[in-house]
Amino acid sequence: MANGKDTSFMRSLCMGYIEEDMIVPFPVTSPEERETLQSVIASLGDLMAPHEKDFSAWDRAAEMPASYLEELKTFGLFGLIIPEAHGGLGFGSAAYSRTLQEVARFDASTAVTIGAHSSIGMRGLLLFGTDKQKERFLPRLATGEMIAAFCLTEPGSGSDAASIRTTATRDGDDWIIDGNKLWITNGGIADFFTVFAKTENADTRGHMTAFIVTRDMPGVSVGPHEDKMGLRASSTTTVHFERVRVPDANRLGEVGKGFKVAMKILNSGRTGLGGGAVGAMKHLIALSSKQANERSQFGKRIREFGLIKQKVGHMVVDCYASEATVHMVAALADQGYQDYAVEAAISKVFASEALWRCADEALQTAGGNGYMTEYPYERIVRDSRINRIFEGTNEILRLFIALTAMDDVGRSLKELSKSLQGVFEDPIKGFGVLSEYALRRASLATGIRKSMFTKLDPRLRAHAAVFEEATKDLAIAVDRILRKHGRNIIGKQLASKRLADAMIDMFVLACTLSRVNSSLLSQGEEKAQPELQILAVLSDDVRRRVRQNFDLVDRNEDDALKAVAEHAFDLERYGWDTI
Ligand SMILES: Cc1cc2nc3c(=O)[nH]c(=O)nc-3n(C[C@H](O)[C@H](O)[C@H](O)COP(=O)(O)OP(=O)(O)OC[C@H]3O[C@@H](n4cnc5c(N)ncnc54)[C@H](O)[C@@H]3O)c2cc1C
Repeated sequence: MANGKDTSFMRSLCMGYIEEDMIVPFPVTSPEERETLQSVIASLGDLMAPHEKDFSAWDRAAEMPASYLEELKTFGLFGLIIPEAHGGLGFGSAAYSRTLQEVARFDASTAVTIGAHSSIGMRGLLLFGTDKQKERFLPRLATGEMIAAFCLTEPGSGSDAASIRTTATRDGDDWIIDGNKLWITNGGIADFFTVFAKTENADTRGHMTAFIVTRDMPGVSVGPHEDKMGLRASSTTTVHFERVRVPDANRLGEVGKGFKVAMKILNSGRTGLGGGAVGAMKHLIALSSKQANERSQFGKRIREFGLIKQKVGHMVVDCYASEATVHMVAALADQGYQDYAVEAAISKVFASEALWRCADEALQTAGGNGYMTEYPYERIVRDSRINRIFEGTNEILRLFIALTAMDDVGRSLKELSKSLQGVFEDPIKGFGVLSEYALRRASLATGIRKSMFTKLDPRLRAHAAVFEEATKDLAIAVDRILRKHGRNIIGKQLASKRLADAMIDMFVLACTLSRVNSSLLSQGEEKAQPELQILAVLSDDVRRRVRQNFDLVDRNEDDALKAVAEHAFDLERYGWDTI
């Protein structure tokens, strides 16, 4: 496998290869970027800290005052990823993600307002826009004069994005857009909408095109502010397009390629959400540590109790591992790697679930206070929940992770069977494929170079071995599952989920190993001790979980479990009582 910029760490891993050069050493922030980030972070604190009480009031009132939005605009928060030539700050993925982290420490509604603008609302323009389109819109998007929104979801189309009904019909040099979009973040404050619409008859699945639609176009309207569980101060509305005439000059990308545009936007925007999750976890750790120090019961500070230490310890491990993973994915994007969709999906799933665990445990650590609206915990729990649902539900992303990462193995198996079939007609071609496959098997069996880490400090050998062992098991499990189910793997969701869970754990461990390795080398063993302990906890957890997932591939009670669910579906209720 070529180790070029088109390599994917996880795809290679499924073939049994560890593309170590992609992740070791842990990516560093350049001194100039660090300096810029430090000054942005300090100023952000000055901007947001005075609003600490306001955030909770705005959450209750479900509004974000226009004067506060103006403060965000003046700060430049809407221009983070826009090139300096167009009036933005020109941040790469890592700096963008780190900035959103800082915003999310203070307020999730603010983070999602900025995130929806940059991560998804205007990212299509950056990725697919023509020079003319960029010149026309980017300067106004950078100042926040125009706020952006991403319009994909519809009442009948959520996870199944290819099933949208909004249409764009060609009319001379224009398109006429008709349809309704649902739950659009920034809907109520946006002037710039990236809209996805069908450009063939409604029966052609997935044949869609992306367009830039502006608020001033006749026929564009938005619904009222949605009353939500969390992120209550952020704007979420329906957006309606009634015979909206859009010039072809506003088309983003090629006609019919809108699905790819949407997926590329979502993939490359995921480090924003991950950064937000890390910021929220850091805030929760600060709250819980303070609580553990200040609250006494049974004559002791609650920090003395093992069960409280267990909670906060896990929060720190989750946060450190998420931060390592989110930063690694952002760095891969910044280094020009093209194929990091699986890794980005992993970072989103892991960080959103880690945040959920942290928010729950922080609330528990606060006891009854955690349940009171006077304290920040319940708001953070409410705000955190959406991360597992939007920008791709974690269920859909797990299937995506497993199926995409297995693709190369599937191909190699297909090639193998093809080459065996054709071996007598074209022996040289067939032999070539066979020998490559045989080489891969041999490398798995003997554990030569590419199946092992070679650059990690020897003091991390035991943890590296956990990863290497899992790599062999993963390649074997993928191979076995594909041979058993073939194309039917698409319908084997529980098997795919187990593989995805193992892959998520493994990528997170790989990123954490690399991060701890860099700390160990730069700071020495004594200073890096807490990080070594974090790695010890994570690697032990991963070893156990991965083994359990692989064990369950062949022996499980999936059929019984599905039957239990079918029973409830059929009755539409729980079927038993004790009286
Ligand atoms: C606050 C908020 C903000 C949002 N912002 C935006 C935005 O700015 N722009 C935008 O376009 N959208 C936005 N959305 C929409 C969001 O992206 C969707 O809610 C999400 O994609 C899931 O779609 P759905 O809600 O229709 O759930 P469904 O797709 O109906 O899913 C229901 C359940 O079924 C599961 N499921 C679905 N299909 C499968 C399958 N094949 N296999 C296994 N399980 C499956 C899902 O994981 C989920 O658990 C937002 C939503 C919310 C709540």
